[in-house]
Amino acid sequence: MAHENQTVIKTTCPRDCYDGCGMIVTTENGQVTQVKGNPEHPTNQGKLCGKCSVAYNGVWIDEDARLLHPMRRVGKKGSGAFTPISWDEALGEVASRLGKIVESHGASSIYHTHYTGTCSFIASDFPGRFFEHLGATEVDPDTICNKAGHVAWNYVFGDSVNGFDPRTVKNSKCILVWGANPSASAPHVDKNWLHDNTAKVIVIDPIRHETADRADLYLQVRPGADAALAFAMVHVMQRDGLLDMDYIRDHVLGFDDIASSIAECTPEWGEAQTDVPAALIEEAARLYAIGPSLMWLGQGLQRQLGGGNIFRACAMLPAFTGNIGKPGAGAYYLNSTADIFSRGGKSPIYEADGSDDAATVSQMDIPALLQDAETIQAYMVWNCNPDHIGLNGFQPGAG
Ligand code: SF4
Repeated sequence: MAHENQTVIKTTCPRDCYDGCGMIVTTENGQVTQVKGNPEHPTNQGKLCGKCSVAYNGVWIDEDARLLHPMRRVGKKGSGAFTPISWDEALGEVASRLGKIVESHGASSIYHTHYTGTCSFIASDFPGRFFEHLGATEVDPDTICNKAGHVAWNYVFGDSVNGFDPRTVKNSKCILVWGANPSASAPHVDKNWLHDNTAKVIVIDPIRHETADRADLYLQVRPGADAALAFAMVHVMQRDGLLDMDYIRDHVLGFDDIASSIAECTPEWGEAQTDVPAALIEEAARLYAIGPSLMWLGQGLQRQLGGGNIFRACAMLPAFTGNIGKPGAGAYYLNSTADIFSRGGKSPIYEADGSDDAATVSQMDIPALLQDAETIQAYMVWNCNPDHIGLNGFQPGAG
Protein backbone atom coordinates (compact mmCIF):
# COMPACT_ATOMS: atom_id res chain seq x y z
CA MET A 1 0.00 0.00 0.00
CA ALA A 2 1.52 3.29 -1.07
CA HIS A 3 1.75 6.00 1.59
CA GLU A 4 1.74 9.77 1.14
CA ASN A 5 4.43 10.99 -1.30
CA GLN A 6 4.62 7.49 -2.78
CA THR A 7 3.40 6.56 -6.23
CA VAL A 8 3.12 3.02 -7.55
CA ILE A 9 3.30 2.58 -11.33
CA LYS A 10 2.71 -0.58 -13.33
CA THR A 11 4.97 -0.57 -16.37
CA THR A 12 7.15 -2.77 -18.57
CA CYS A 13 10.89 -3.35 -18.52
CA PRO A 14 12.33 -1.12 -21.26
CA ARG A 15 15.35 -3.24 -22.07
CA ASP A 16 15.64 -4.77 -25.53
CA CYS A 17 14.63 -8.25 -24.41
CA TYR A 18 12.18 -10.92 -25.60
CA ASP A 19 10.63 -11.20 -22.12
CA GLY A 20 9.15 -7.70 -21.81
CA CYS A 21 8.66 -8.25 -18.07
CA GLY A 22 5.86 -6.48 -16.23
CA MET A 23 7.21 -4.27 -13.44
CA ILE A 24 5.88 -2.41 -10.42
CA VAL A 25 7.84 0.78 -9.79
CA THR A 26 7.52 2.73 -6.55
CA THR A 27 8.55 6.38 -6.49
CA GLU A 28 8.87 8.65 -3.50
CA ASN A 29 8.90 12.42 -3.99
CA GLY A 30 9.48 11.77 -7.67
CA GLN A 31 12.47 9.46 -7.15
CA VAL A 32 12.40 5.74 -7.94
CA THR A 33 12.84 3.82 -4.70
CA GLN A 34 11.92 0.26 -5.68
CA VAL A 35 11.44 -1.82 -8.84
CA LYS A 36 10.02 -5.33 -8.66
CA GLY A 37 8.32 -7.84 -10.92
CA ASN A 38 4.56 -7.69 -11.42
CA PRO A 39 3.02 -10.95 -10.15
CA GLU A 40 0.03 -10.51 -12.48
CA HIS A 41 2.17 -10.39 -15.62
CA PRO A 42 1.73 -13.62 -17.61
CA THR A 43 5.37 -13.92 -18.69
CA ASN A 44 7.52 -13.02 -15.70
CA GLN A 45 4.93 -13.73 -12.98
CA GLY A 46 6.47 -11.44 -10.35
CA LYS A 47 10.14 -12.04 -11.12
CA LEU A 48 12.80 -9.89 -12.81
CA CYS A 49 16.03 -11.31 -14.16
CA GLY A 50 19.07 -11.12 -11.87
CA LYS A 51 20.66 -8.29 -13.82
CA CYS A 52 17.62 -6.03 -13.68
CA SER A 53 16.57 -6.95 -10.19
CA VAL A 54 19.97 -5.82 -8.90
CA ALA A 55 20.56 -2.90 -11.26
CA TYR A 56 17.11 -1.27 -11.13
CA ASN A 57 17.32 -1.22 -7.35
CA GLY A 58 21.01 -0.36 -7.22
CA VAL A 59 23.35 1.21 -9.71
CA TRP A 60 20.64 2.56 -12.02
CA ILE A 61 19.13 4.67 -9.23
CA ASP A 62 22.44 5.57 -7.61
CA GLU A 63 23.20 9.16 -8.58
CA ASP A 64 26.84 8.72 -7.61
CA ALA A 65 27.22 5.89 -10.10
CA ARG A 66 25.48 7.59 -13.01
CA LEU A 67 26.50 10.17 -15.56
CA LEU A 68 24.28 13.17 -14.78
CA HIS A 69 25.85 15.92 -16.93
CA PRO A 70 27.27 16.27 -20.44
CA MET A 71 31.04 15.79 -20.54
CA ARG A 72 33.35 17.57 -22.97
CA ARG A 73 36.48 15.78 -24.16
CA VAL A 74 39.48 17.90 -23.23
CA GLY A 75 42.35 15.62 -24.14
CA LYS A 76 43.24 13.68 -27.27
CA LYS A 77 40.67 11.21 -28.60
CA GLY A 78 41.01 8.04 -26.61
CA SER A 79 42.86 9.71 -23.71
CA GLY A 80 39.76 9.55 -21.50
CA ALA A 81 40.08 13.18 -20.33
CA PHE A 82 36.67 14.86 -19.95
CA THR A 83 35.26 17.81 -18.04
CA PRO A 84 31.60 18.43 -17.08
CA ILE A 85 29.75 21.18 -18.96
CA SER A 86 26.17 22.46 -18.70
CA TRP A 87 23.36 21.24 -20.96
CA ASP A 88 23.05 24.73 -22.48
CA GLU A 89 26.73 24.74 -23.34
CA ALA A 90 26.63 21.23 -24.80
CA LEU A 91 23.47 21.73 -26.84
CA GLY A 92 24.62 25.16 -28.03
CA GLU A 93 27.96 23.83 -29.21
CA VAL A 94 26.50 20.84 -31.03
CA ALA A 95 23.80 22.99 -32.66
CA SER A 96 26.35 25.57 -33.76
CA ARG A 97 28.69 22.96 -35.29
CA LEU A 98 25.84 21.14 -37.06
CA GLY A 99 24.48 24.45 -38.33
CA LYS A 100 27.86 25.35 -39.88
CA ILE A 101 28.07 21.93 -41.55
CA VAL A 102 24.57 22.31 -42.98
CA GLU A 103 25.58 25.69 -44.44
CA SER A 104 28.91 24.55 -45.86
CA HIS A 105 28.24 20.95 -46.99
CA GLY A 106 24.48 20.37 -46.68
CA ALA A 107 22.64 18.35 -44.06
CA SER A 108 23.19 15.05 -45.89
CA SER A 109 26.88 15.23 -44.91
CA ILE A 110 25.71 14.64 -41.32
CA TYR A 111 25.44 10.86 -40.84
CA HIS A 112 23.65 9.27 -37.93
CA THR A 113 23.57 5.69 -36.74
CA HIS A 114 21.40 4.21 -34.05
CA TYR A 115 19.81 1.10 -32.60
CA THR A 116 17.31 0.48 -29.85
CA GLY A 117 18.68 1.77 -26.57
CA THR A 118 15.94 1.98 -24.01
CA CYS A 119 12.75 0.67 -25.62
CA SER A 120 10.29 3.48 -25.18
CA PHE A 121 8.85 5.63 -27.92
CA ILE A 122 10.60 8.77 -26.75
CA ALA A 123 13.95 7.25 -25.78
CA SER A 124 14.28 4.97 -28.77
CA ASP A 125 12.74 7.06 -31.54
CA PHE A 126 12.76 10.76 -30.80
CA PRO A 127 16.35 11.53 -31.89
CA GLY A 128 15.42 10.03 -35.26
CA ARG A 129 12.73 12.68 -35.64
CA PHE A 130 15.37 15.38 -35.22
CA PHE A 131 17.72 13.89 -37.82
CA GLU A 132 14.89 13.18 -40.25
CA HIS A 133 13.73 16.78 -39.96
CA LEU A 134 17.30 18.00 -40.45
CA GLY A 135 17.76 15.93 -43.62
CA ALA A 136 20.72 13.93 -42.30
CA THR A 137 21.85 10.64 -43.89
CA GLU A 138 20.77 7.56 -41.97
CA VAL A 139 22.81 4.41 -41.61
CA ASP A 140 20.48 1.58 -42.58
CA PRO A 141 19.84 -1.03 -41.44
CA ASP A 142 20.05 0.27 -37.90
CA THR A 143 21.50 -3.11 -37.05
CA ILE A 144 22.85 -5.93 -39.14
CA CYS A 145 21.56 -8.28 -36.43
CA ASN A 146 18.07 -8.96 -37.75
CA LYS A 147 17.43 -7.18 -41.05
CA ALA A 148 17.62 -10.28 -43.29
CA GLY A 149 14.84 -11.91 -41.28
CA HIS A 150 12.65 -8.83 -41.46
CA VAL A 151 13.09 -8.51 -45.22
CA ALA A 152 12.39 -12.20 -45.81
CA TRP A 153 9.36 -12.25 -43.51
CA ASN A 154 7.99 -9.17 -45.26
CA TYR A 155 8.39 -10.90 -48.64
CA VAL A 156 6.52 -13.94 -47.45
CA PHE A 157 3.95 -12.66 -44.96
CA GLY A 158 3.95 -8.92 -45.69
CA ASP A 159 4.86 -8.32 -42.06
CA SER A 160 7.64 -9.27 -39.65
CA VAL A 161 6.59 -7.66 -36.37
CA ASN A 162 3.13 -9.06 -35.63
CA GLY A 163 3.79 -12.55 -34.30
CA PHE A 164 1.46 -14.57 -32.13
CA ASP A 165 0.39 -13.65 -28.61
CA PRO A 166 2.23 -16.04 -26.22
CA ARG A 167 -1.00 -16.55 -24.26
CA THR A 168 -2.43 -18.52 -27.20
CA VAL A 169 -0.08 -21.34 -26.24
CA LYS A 170 -2.92 -22.88 -24.21
CA ASN A 171 -4.42 -24.01 -27.53
CA SER A 172 -1.14 -25.32 -29.00
CA LYS A 173 -0.04 -28.92 -29.35
CA CYS A 174 3.44 -28.09 -30.61
CA ILE A 175 5.96 -25.24 -30.28
CA LEU A 176 8.85 -25.20 -32.73
CA VAL A 177 11.83 -23.03 -31.70
CA TRP A 178 14.32 -22.67 -34.54
CA GLY A 179 17.63 -20.83 -34.12
CA ALA A 180 16.75 -19.16 -30.83
CA ASN A 181 18.03 -19.78 -27.31
CA PRO A 182 15.29 -18.69 -24.89
CA SER A 183 17.13 -20.21 -21.91
CA ALA A 184 19.66 -17.38 -22.27
CA SER A 185 17.82 -14.57 -24.06
CA ALA A 186 14.29 -14.95 -22.70
CA PRO A 187 14.55 -16.59 -19.27
CA HIS A 188 10.93 -16.02 -18.19
CA VAL A 189 9.48 -17.01 -21.55
CA ASP A 190 11.59 -20.14 -21.34
CA LYS A 191 10.40 -21.05 -17.85
CA ASN A 192 6.80 -19.83 -17.73
CA TRP A 193 5.67 -20.03 -21.34
CA LEU A 194 7.72 -22.51 -23.31
CA HIS A 195 7.88 -25.37 -20.85
CA ASP A 196 4.93 -24.69 -18.56
CA ASN A 197 2.16 -26.05 -20.79
CA THR A 198 1.10 -29.29 -22.46
CA ALA A 199 2.46 -28.51 -25.94
CA LYS A 200 5.36 -30.61 -27.22
CA VAL A 201 8.49 -28.53 -27.76
CA ILE A 202 10.74 -29.06 -30.78
CA VAL A 203 14.09 -27.24 -30.86
CA ILE A 204 16.22 -26.99 -34.00
CA ASP A 205 19.68 -25.55 -33.39
CA PRO A 206 23.31 -26.52 -33.99
CA ILE A 207 23.97 -25.80 -30.28
CA ARG A 208 22.50 -28.02 -27.58
CA HIS A 209 21.59 -25.17 -25.22
CA GLU A 210 19.42 -25.53 -22.11
CA THR A 211 16.14 -25.06 -23.98
CA ALA A 212 17.23 -27.72 -26.47
CA ASP A 213 18.16 -30.02 -23.62
CA ARG A 214 14.65 -29.83 -22.16
CA ALA A 215 12.82 -30.09 -25.50
CA ASP A 216 10.67 -33.10 -26.40
CA LEU A 217 12.48 -33.32 -29.74
CA TYR A 218 15.90 -31.82 -30.45
CA LEU A 219 17.21 -31.67 -34.01
CA GLN A 220 20.91 -30.77 -34.01
CA VAL A 221 21.16 -29.36 -37.51
CA ARG A 222 24.47 -28.86 -39.26
CA PRO A 223 25.24 -25.10 -39.38
CA GLY A 224 23.94 -23.64 -42.63
CA ALA A 225 21.68 -26.60 -43.49
CA ASP A 226 18.42 -25.19 -42.09
CA ALA A 227 16.74 -24.62 -45.47
CA ALA A 228 17.45 -28.23 -46.47
CA LEU A 229 15.88 -29.37 -43.21
CA ALA A 230 12.77 -27.27 -43.90
CA PHE A 231 12.41 -28.84 -47.36
CA ALA A 232 12.84 -32.37 -45.98
CA MET A 233 10.20 -31.72 -43.29
CA VAL A 234 7.76 -30.36 -45.87
CA HIS A 235 8.46 -33.47 -48.03
CA VAL A 236 7.24 -35.66 -45.16
CA MET A 237 4.14 -33.52 -44.71
CA GLN A 238 3.34 -33.70 -48.42
CA ARG A 239 4.02 -37.44 -48.67
CA ASP A 240 1.83 -38.19 -45.64
CA GLY A 241 -1.07 -35.97 -46.74
CA LEU A 242 -0.53 -33.50 -43.91
CA LEU A 243 -0.48 -30.32 -45.98
CA ASP A 244 -3.55 -28.11 -45.69
CA MET A 245 -4.48 -27.92 -49.37
CA ASP A 246 -7.53 -25.75 -48.68
CA TYR A 247 -5.37 -23.19 -46.90
CA ILE A 248 -2.78 -23.34 -49.70
CA ARG A 249 -5.46 -22.84 -52.35
CA ASP A 250 -6.97 -19.86 -50.53
CA HIS A 251 -3.88 -18.13 -49.11
CA VAL A 252 -0.59 -19.29 -50.64
CA LEU A 253 1.13 -18.10 -53.81
CA GLY A 254 3.82 -20.17 -55.54
CA PHE A 255 3.16 -23.61 -54.04
CA ASP A 256 3.04 -25.29 -57.47
CA ASP A 257 6.41 -23.75 -58.38
CA ILE A 258 8.25 -25.61 -55.62
CA ALA A 259 6.15 -28.78 -55.29
CA SER A 260 8.58 -30.75 -57.49
CA SER A 261 11.60 -29.56 -55.45
CA ILE A 262 9.84 -30.65 -52.27
CA ALA A 263 9.18 -34.08 -53.80
CA GLU A 264 12.94 -34.59 -54.27
CA CYS A 265 13.87 -33.70 -50.68
CA THR A 266 13.29 -37.02 -48.95
CA PRO A 267 14.11 -37.46 -45.25
CA GLU A 268 17.15 -39.55 -46.29
CA TRP A 269 18.34 -36.68 -48.49
CA GLY A 270 17.64 -34.38 -45.54
CA GLU A 271 19.79 -36.51 -43.24
CA ALA A 272 22.68 -36.36 -45.69
CA GLN A 273 22.37 -32.57 -45.93
CA THR A 274 21.71 -31.72 -42.29
CA ASP A 275 23.13 -34.54 -40.10
CA VAL A 276 19.65 -34.86 -38.51
CA PRO A 277 18.53 -38.52 -38.54
CA ALA A 278 15.74 -39.15 -41.08
CA ALA A 279 13.51 -40.67 -38.38
CA LEU A 280 13.77 -37.49 -36.33
CA ILE A 281 12.95 -35.34 -39.37
CA GLU A 282 9.83 -37.46 -39.91
CA GLU A 283 8.75 -37.25 -36.27
CA ALA A 284 9.21 -33.48 -36.06
CA ALA A 285 7.45 -32.90 -39.38
CA ARG A 286 4.39 -34.89 -38.34
CA LEU A 287 4.18 -33.31 -34.90
CA TYR A 288 4.35 -29.82 -36.34
CA ALA A 289 1.98 -30.42 -39.26
CA ILE A 290 -0.78 -31.95 -37.12
CA GLY A 291 -0.61 -28.95 -34.74
CA PRO A 292 -1.99 -26.52 -33.87
CA SER A 293 1.60 -25.31 -33.86
CA LEU A 294 3.52 -22.17 -33.01
CA MET A 295 6.82 -21.47 -34.74
CA TRP A 296 9.46 -19.12 -33.34
CA LEU A 297 12.36 -18.25 -35.61
CA GLY A 298 15.31 -16.71 -33.77
CA GLN A 299 17.69 -14.02 -34.97
CA GLY A 300 20.51 -16.57 -34.96
CA LEU A 301 18.84 -18.42 -37.82
CA GLN A 302 19.17 -15.49 -40.21
CA ARG A 303 22.70 -14.54 -39.14
CA GLN A 304 24.34 -16.77 -41.70
CA LEU A 305 25.01 -16.87 -45.42
CA GLY A 306 21.64 -16.92 -47.20
CA GLY A 307 19.87 -16.22 -43.91
CA GLY A 308 16.96 -14.47 -45.59
CA ASN A 309 16.30 -17.42 -47.86
CA ILE A 310 16.53 -19.79 -44.91
CA PHE A 311 13.72 -17.78 -43.32
CA ARG A 312 11.70 -18.04 -46.52
CA ALA A 313 12.21 -21.82 -46.58
CA CYS A 314 11.07 -22.12 -42.95
CA ALA A 315 7.99 -20.05 -43.79
CA MET A 316 6.75 -23.01 -45.85
CA LEU A 317 5.91 -24.85 -42.64
CA PRO A 318 3.13 -22.59 -41.31
CA ALA A 319 2.02 -21.55 -44.80
CA PHE A 320 1.61 -25.08 -46.15
CA THR A 321 0.06 -26.58 -43.02
CA GLY A 322 -2.34 -23.72 -42.27
CA ASN A 323 -0.71 -23.10 -38.90
CA ILE A 324 -1.58 -19.44 -39.06
CA GLY A 325 -4.57 -17.42 -37.95
CA LYS A 326 -6.23 -19.95 -35.68
CA PRO A 327 -6.04 -20.55 -31.92
CA GLY A 328 -2.71 -22.04 -30.88
CA ALA A 329 -1.08 -21.50 -34.29
CA GLY A 330 1.18 -18.78 -35.65
CA ALA A 331 4.67 -17.68 -36.60
CA TYR A 332 6.84 -15.28 -34.67
CA TYR A 333 10.08 -13.44 -35.35
CA LEU A 334 10.32 -10.12 -33.46
CA ASN A 335 7.17 -8.48 -32.16
CA SER A 336 7.51 -4.72 -31.94
CA THR A 337 5.12 -2.24 -30.43
CA ALA A 338 6.60 0.75 -32.24
CA ASP A 339 6.45 -1.00 -35.59
CA ILE A 340 2.97 -2.33 -34.94
CA PHE A 341 1.80 1.27 -34.59
CA SER A 342 3.13 2.06 -38.03
CA ARG A 343 2.35 -1.33 -39.57
CA GLY A 344 5.92 -2.33 -40.22
CA GLY A 345 7.44 1.06 -41.03
CA LYS A 346 9.07 3.55 -38.73
CA SER A 347 7.16 4.77 -35.74
CA PRO A 348 5.09 7.94 -36.10
CA ILE A 349 7.42 9.72 -33.67
CA TYR A 350 10.42 9.01 -35.86
CA GLU A 351 8.88 10.42 -39.00
CA ALA A 352 8.47 14.14 -38.41
CA ASP A 353 6.27 14.69 -41.44
CA GLY A 354 4.93 11.17 -41.89
CA SER A 355 7.33 10.45 -44.76
CA ASP A 356 10.41 8.27 -44.91
CA ASP A 357 12.58 10.02 -47.45
CA ALA A 358 15.90 10.35 -45.61
CA ALA A 359 18.99 9.40 -47.60
CA THR A 360 20.46 6.12 -46.35
CA VAL A 361 23.79 4.36 -46.51
CA SER A 362 24.56 0.73 -45.75
CA GLN A 363 26.08 0.04 -42.39
CA MET A 364 28.57 -2.22 -44.14
CA ASP A 365 29.98 0.80 -46.01
CA ILE A 366 30.42 2.98 -42.95
CA PRO A 367 33.94 1.90 -41.87
CA ALA A 368 35.34 2.90 -45.27
CA LEU A 369 33.25 6.07 -45.49
CA LEU A 370 34.47 7.22 -42.10
CA GLN A 371 37.97 7.55 -43.52
CA ASP A 372 36.65 10.16 -45.96
CA ALA A 373 36.44 13.45 -44.06
CA GLU A 374 34.82 15.22 -47.03
CA THR A 375 31.81 12.91 -47.38
CA ILE A 376 31.03 12.64 -43.68
CA GLN A 377 31.30 15.95 -41.91
CA ALA A 378 29.70 14.71 -38.70
CA TYR A 379 28.96 11.20 -37.48
CA MET A 380 26.30 11.12 -34.77
CA VAL A 381 25.86 7.90 -32.79
CA TRP A 382 22.82 7.46 -30.58
CA ASN A 383 21.45 4.41 -28.77
CA CYS A 384 24.16 2.10 -30.01
CA ASN A 385 27.83 1.26 -30.02
CA PRO A 386 28.92 0.56 -33.61
CA ASP A 387 32.14 -1.02 -32.41
CA HIS A 388 30.10 -3.76 -30.75
CA ILE A 389 27.69 -4.60 -33.56
CA GLY A 390 30.11 -6.10 -35.97
CA LEU A 391 31.95 -3.09 -37.34
CA ASN A 392 35.32 -4.16 -36.05
CA GLY A 393 38.00 -1.69 -36.89
CA PHE A 394 35.48 1.14 -36.58
CA GLN A 395 37.67 4.28 -36.61
CA PRO A 396 35.91 7.59 -37.08
CA GLY A 397 38.26 9.76 -39.10
CA ALA A 398 35.95 12.64 -39.87
CA GLY A 399 34.16 15.04 -37.48
S1 SF4 B 1 14.40 -10.61 -18.35
FE1 SF4 B 1 15.39 -8.81 -17.41
S2 SF4 B 1 15.93 -7.48 -19.15
FE2 SF4 B 1 14.42 -8.96 -19.90
S3 SF4 B 1 12.47 -7.89 -19.69
FE3 SF4 B 1 12.76 -9.14 -17.83
S4 SF4 B 1 13.71 -7.76 -16.33
FE4 SF4 B 1 13.95 -6.82 -18.39
